[in-house]
Amino acid sequence: MSTYFPARALVDLTAIRSNVRALAGHAAPSLDRTAQVMAVVKADAYGHGLLPSARAAVQGGATWLGTAQIAEALALRAGGVTGRILTWLYAPGAPLGDLLDADVDVSVAAPWALDEVVAAARERNRVARVHVKVDTGLGRNGLTLDALPAFLTGAVAAQSAGLVEIVGIWSHLAFADDPVHPTVLAQADVFDAAVRLAEQAGAHLEVRHLANSAATLTNPRMHYDLVRPGLAVYGLSPVPDLAGPTELGLRPAMTLEAQLATVKAVPAGTGVSYAHAYTTPADTVLGVVPLGYADGIPRHASGGPAAATGPTGAPVRVGAGPTARTLRVAGRVCMDQFVLDLGPGAQEQAGDRVVLFGDGADGGPTAQDWADAAQTISYEITTRLGDRVPRVYLGED
Ligand SMILES: *Cc1c(COP(=O)(O)O)cnc(C)c1O
Repeated sequence: MSTYFPARALVDLTAIRSNVRALAGHAAPSLDRTAQVMAVVKADAYGHGLLPSARAAVQGGATWLGTAQIAEALALRAGGVTGRILTWLYAPGAPLGDLLDADVDVSVAAPWALDEVVAAARERNRVARVHVKVDTGLGRNGLTLDALPAFLTGAVAAQSAGLVEIVGIWSHLAFADDPVHPTVLAQADVFDAAVRLAEQAGAHLEVRHLANSAATLTNPRMHYDLVRPGLAVYGLSPVPDLAGPTELGLRPAMTLEAQLATVKAVPAGTGVSYAHAYTTPADTVLGVVPLGYADGIPRHASGGPAAATGPTGAPVRVGAGPTARTLRVAGRVCMDQFVLDLGPGAQEQAGDRVVLFGDGADGGPTAQDWADAAQTISYEITTRLGDRVPRVYLGED
């Protein structure tokens, strides 16, 4: 069986290590307290590859790892990752006993979840380490402040029975990317009230945590005992309107590159790709890039008709060194491929490397540029990158 593929995502583990170090620096400001770092590695580490990314994050100083899915947490343990892991998203009937056997902390966001955790603890003869999820204003998962006292009565009873240990109170922000938005402080106030309720009820909290990447980077008030950055671990800015990666001390870890599959001369007026959304304005050379929406290349990054400035799709770096240039996707992104108008007299050949996005250091495009072109966020650009695109790791230990 061949694993051949004419494109690949290079993942620089050195960047992940250094990003986590930078985040740990943010989490240890000149306040009286130092927050630990939980690197969030859900969704295959935002498309970067679960285990290599998790190991690099730990090497960079993350003392916790966070996953949305139970299977992701168990995969970390199966891969030999030690240290604290928290997982948080599941429905009734989830394999919670397996989590307890694997010494994974579990979020509890509803009364039924506590019942199932308690049953699993009894069945496996283990003490479940639970983090109580509070909805402080995101309006998503978690217990409202109103529901908390009754819930805590049950949780503390289970703790007294030796079945659970309430180790954390946690919540998630709705407007973390807008640090001065009034809801941010309002959520922190509700969070503080939830912490007080838990402590009064008899919980001995190890960690209180509220901050994602944006709050970690912009808002020390939100740090508490543990911060939970995801996107920033991979070097992308969670606040692109406020600051780019360099200003935040981050470096994008992923470079998505492909080899041109076909290069050919065509006359002016050639319709390019489905529905001829782009037509060549002059005699030119087309290059076919073997990546498409099946690989997570957004179809919204397609390039419309040639404007005065040329095609209008997402940017792609062609060539290297002083002759490098940034072109734009010409015409529709297809399932497996898209086309570039390389320009009249272009010297590229089939097999030559093009870069869809990388760290931007050479002036080339970034995942943020692709997000802008597709009217989405950089999170979606890397997490959607398809399974069939090989990940190649650089900077491995
Ligand atoms: C995804 C997620 C994070 C990380 O968010 P970023 O914006 O990527 O830093 C933190 N906490 C929770 C609950 C999440 O779902």
